[in-house]
Amino acid sequence: MLEKSDSKRGQAVSDSSLSGSNAGPEKIYLDALEKGIWQIQSCTECRKAIFYPRNVCPHCGGTALSWIAPSGNGTVYSSSTIHRSQEHGGDYNVSLIDLDEGARMMSTVLGCAPLDVKIGMPVKARIDSSATQPRVVFDVVEVGK
Ligand SMILES: [Zn+2]
Repeated sequence: MLEKSDSKRGQAVSDSSLSGSNAGPEKIYLDALEKGIWQIQSCTECRKAIFYPRNVCPHCGGTALSWIAPSGNGTVYSSSTIHRSQEHGGDYNVSLIDLDEGARMMSTVLGCAPLDVKIGMPVKARIDSSATQPRVVFDVVEVGK
């Protein structure tokens, strides 16, 4: 059993007192990603996983959100190929991934041709630090190999 904490009292109050410094959930998320740590939020009230980072739970409106380390396992929910000229890097994949934790995130699946990314395909997250800003991408999980 989990004890219900007093969410009214435990709120961070420092955000607005420092002008110009916004340590909101998105910044916390991106700062962690820079350090190679991927974390998503979990609502302490309805226990659902949340992505993209935010202040209020989209499921129940709760504001007591905590950070959790996802397993990285997910499934392709939908996939589309964005066409781009070769000089700009060629076609690429944009997919919605259902994480095992329950949250859905937009990302890209690497490791196969964009058109070969199929709905229901198991994928595994990793942090891609090759870009200016680190991002979470997904690799295809080879089944039965
Ligand atoms: Zn909630």
